[in-house]
Parts: sequence; C-alpha cells; structure tokens
Amino acid sequence: MKKRTLALMQEDKKNIWHPLTQHKLVEGLLPVKKAKAERLYDTEGRSYIDGIASWYTSMFGHCHPKIIDAVTDQMKELDQIVFSGFTHEPAVKLSQELLEILPDVQTKLFFNDNGSTATEVGIKMALQYHSNRGKDKDVLLAFEDGFHGDTLGAMSASGLSVYNGAFEKHFLEVKRIPKPNGNNNKVIIEQLEKLIAEHRIAGFIYEPLVQGAAGMKFYNAEGLEMILQTCKENGIICIADEVMTGFGKTGKLFASDHLSIQPDIMCMSKALSAGMVPMGVTSCSDRIYQAFYADEIEKGLFHGHTYTGNPLACAAALASIDLLRSRRIQQNITKIEQLNKDFAKKLEKKKNVINVRTMGVILAFELDVEMARYGSLRNELYQFFMDKGVFLRPLGNTIYVLPPFIIKGRNLQRIHKVILQCIKKFT
Ligand SMILES: *Cc1c(COP(=O)(O)O)cnc(C)c1O
Repeated sequence: MKKRTLALMQEDKKNIWHPLTQHKLVEGLLPVKKAKAERLYDTEGRSYIDGIASWYTSMFGHCHPKIIDAVTDQMKELDQIVFSGFTHEPAVKLSQELLEILPDVQTKLFFNDNGSTATEVGIKMALQYHSNRGKDKDVLLAFEDGFHGDTLGAMSASGLSVYNGAFEKHFLEVKRIPKPNGNNNKVIIEQLEKLIAEHRIAGFIYEPLVQGAAGMKFYNAEGLEMILQTCKENGIICIADEVMTGFGKTGKLFASDHLSIQPDIMCMSKALSAGMVPMGVTSCSDRIYQAFYADEIEKGLFHGHTYTGNPLACAAALASIDLLRSRRIQQNITKIEQLNKDFAKKLEKKKNVINVRTMGVILAFELDVEMARYGSLRNELYQFFMDKGVFLRPLGNTIYVLPPFIIKGRNLQRIHKVILQCIKKFT
C-alpha cells in the first residue's frame, strides 16, 4: 500500500466517526481519490464500477460536465442566501421544472437539504395539517421494513429500526401493516380498517412500489392502490417517500407515476441534485398548503434549515432534470432495463438464487444463504465485488444493482459477469 494511502487511513481512523459503522469491527476505510462517470478511483490507482450510483445519487455519472458547469456558473453569481425573506432565480426556475414533471396534484415545494429532512417535513406537514384544522390525529401508519431516514421522526416511521433500540421510547406512535403481495391485499385492508377505527391516524408514509434500504423489496401495486384509496376515504394524508425511487429509477419519472392514486405529499432527494450538492424537497398538494395558509402566524410551517434552497443545489437540480428529460438518458434507461431483463432470465436458472426482480434500472435478487445485514459473510461478499473492481453494497443476502443511467453497456455486463462469479463462489 502507498504511504499516502496508509497515512489517510490512519488519520481517518484517528479523527473521524463514519455513518452506519461500528468502528471496533471495521479496519481502515478505503480512500477514494476521484470519480468520473460510472467509475471510482482509489488512491492506489485501482478503479471500481459504481454499480449503485453512490446510493442512487449520481445517476448521471460522477462529475458530469454539464452539472459541474451549472454549479460553477452559479457559485460565481450567488452562493448562499437566507431563504426566509428572500428568493432567487435558481429556486424559482427549479420550482417550475419540478412541478412540470411531478404528478399534477403536487402544487407547492418546500426545500430541504437531505432525504431524512424531506420525509421529516412530510410527516410534520401531515401532523400539523390535522392540528391546524382542529383535529386530534397524531398516529402514523407505515409499512413493515420501510426506511425513511435517520432523524427522529423519519426513524420512527422506519421499520428497519433494529439498530435504533436506544431511541425507541422517544419514537412517534406508528402502526405498521405488511406489504401487499397480491394474495394478502384484502387481509391488509381489513387490518387497516381496524387500525383506522381504533387509532387517530394522521398520515401514511410509504416507499412507492420498492422498499430500497429493506433490500430493494418490490410489492404489489394494486394492493398499494387499495391502501391509498382506504386512506384517502378516511382523511389520512398519504406521503410518498420517493427519495430512492424518484427521478427515473423505476422506469418512470416517479414510482407514483405507475399508480392511479396520487399522494398528497412527496419526498425527494438523492438523485434530485445528481450527487453533486446535497438537496431535498417535500412537495404537497394545494389542500395541504391551504391548511397552513391562515391569518394566525402559528399555523405556518415553522421548519427551516440554514441551507434551505441553496442556489448551488438548485443549479445542480436544474441541470440534472434537464439531463433526465433528454432523449439520450431516456434511451439509456430503456437499454439498461433490457440488459437487466436479459440478465434476470439467466439468474432465474441459477440454483440458490431466489426472488429475481427488475424494475426500471433496478435489478435485485437474494442468495439462498443465511446472512446478517452487516455480518461477516456479507462483508466477504462486498470485498469479493471490490476485488473484482465492482462497487456493490449487498444488504444481507440481497444483491442489487442500481447503476447510473449513463453506464456503458459493457460495464453493466461486467457487473453481471462478476455477479455470476459471486454466485458460484458463495453458494
Ligand atoms: C436514503 C433514503 C432516505 C434518507 O435520505 P438521507 O439523505 O440519507 O437522509 C429516506 N428515504 C428513503 C426511501 C431513502 O432511500
């Protein structure tokens, strides 16, 4: 190992506390020097294909020149400003562009700086919506195994709280229902109706069609529509967490576009600003907004972050929406979908491979092997891919690929090939 690499690793270990990491169980972390398009380059001169677009953010590839130019131009003009009391052109332009691609019922945008705060604001909107209208409703509804972020409200709504035991007694009250699979739809509706009768349910938060952090779990669209319908009939605010699914990953602009019933609130982040600058957005329908629009100052939404509506993030988001809508990217999405489908057919024939699934650019399956979410076998799997020059992050025994839209066909096929080698080795 180069001296420089070693020094970086040592200094890191001395000074830095990393996310989702038990440092006692982790050796030195790999320093990455640069990234370009679908590749990451470490300080040793090795490169890795970024098979998950760095947690589904860098969907147009790393350091995309168009996004660099947009952000560079913007930073020479206006870098940061207080967004309470001022507005600016990048935010206004972004509002126009975003509202054009969002489902029609979404009419207002609230800016944040990450996915957790985007869902946190969605939850607060739903709770305060009822409170502003003098209704005593404060229970949330969510799916088992959902993930909505790591701030307290978002974490409460997340069903993946196995590592969050220390906070459980501070959680918001959340009732959970199973994911519909087509066979249990009616049972879930009965369960839901019972919950509605017994609790003051304010809002339902869900990742539409795909639960990301749970391991790219797909579920039944018709069942979700039945749940949304029941919620709407009972005045429950529907909050779609599109932080993972948004901006083209499921083959449509938003996963909600696959459904006939639209949410009242949508939460976005990750690919929104293309992995260049952090940004989140919570959008809502006019009905939600009107419940806050009043003569009483306290009926407003008193939530704000210092970097809300940051002009650089707006510029990155504008450039990224432009790219998303381009023919070239749309064609690439179709190409990736096809390559994934072809590969899925191959996977289905493999022994010890289960639940092969694809949607848009997402491909996932499980190895039929016991594996803890962050256990040692899972870590071996991770290292196996890295040694072959492919960056994937298996979630327990779930292996998924969510490549950037710009990935070259041969690099996606390289990922597929390494996956086949992995199946051979680990099953
Ligand atoms: C990543 C994610 C979040 C949290 O976003 P952060 O920017 O990491 O805070 C929330 N919901 C979903 C569905 C996500 O995938």
